[in-house]
Amino acid sequence: MTTFSYSRLQTFEQCPYKYKLKYIYKIKPEIEKSIEAHLGTATHDALEWLYVQILNNKIPTLDEVIEQYIKTWQKDFSLNILIVKQEFTHEDYFQKGIKFIIDYYIKHTPFNDGTLETEKQIWIELEPNYPHKIIGYIDRLSYNPKTKEYEIHDYKTANWLPEQKKFDEDKQLALYSIGIKQLFGNHHNINLIWHYLNHNKKITSKRTNGQLEELKQGIINQINKIENNKIWNTNKIILCDWCEYKQICKAHGNKLPQEFQEKEGQQTLF
Ligand code: SF4
Repeated sequence: MTTFSYSRLQTFEQCPYKYKLKYIYKIKPEIEKSIEAHLGTATHDALEWLYVQILNNKIPTLDEVIEQYIKTWQKDFSLNILIVKQEFTHEDYFQKGIKFIIDYYIKHTPFNDGTLETEKQIWIELEPNYPHKIIGYIDRLSYNPKTKEYEIHDYKTANWLPEQKKFDEDKQLALYSIGIKQLFGNHHNINLIWHYLNHNKKITSKRTNGQLEELKQGIINQINKIENNKIWNTNKIILCDWCEYKQICKAHGNKLPQEFQEKEGQQTLF
């Protein structure tokens, strides 16, 4: 059995070669993360901490949440973090996160939102006896007693706010909703909610059971495609600037570490 995550499936869609370096060769990249990823982690951690306190019947002050954000930022910070947009500094990104926390806190206080769990690990079964499973982590799961719906919350720190269509077609939270239905019953309605922190906006979407069945089949097809894949093509796109493997990627004229060159029987790279 192989465990797939949404990001693993997405990596294959984005670039099969990156998938090979990451999941087959398991190469540990020299650049571990981008500044955007660092900002995302520090913000997620602070919001997770906030809701853990709330679940323990204590509403922390805004200053305490900011303090938590600063702690995570500093703990995981390294000068090795990649900044692609050179016009911005580490400090600019750090300050962005502070603003995310302030806006979110003000908008959601006093947090009467029926939160059940944060960073909820969830397993998704695609069909009975199917050998592979999907694992996911829900940023926050809540139950809204007014609408009688479970709510799957996802925090986004990206600058770009997509059109509603993208949310209505999104596979990640839809997949997680399959896992929630498998846990609590297929009859439950589930609201998918994205918090776009840079825009201080909440976007929602829903799926029918029929759409979720189609999604499961689509994911099975995608896993079959990965398992039968023989040619791991590169896909040179703008996102390569954020790829942690760019320094060793042949599409950018770079070489794999020696041991992997030998593994590939690859002496000449273009
Ligand atoms: S740099 Fe681009 S082409 Fe190379 S592995 Fe990364 S995403 Fe793929």
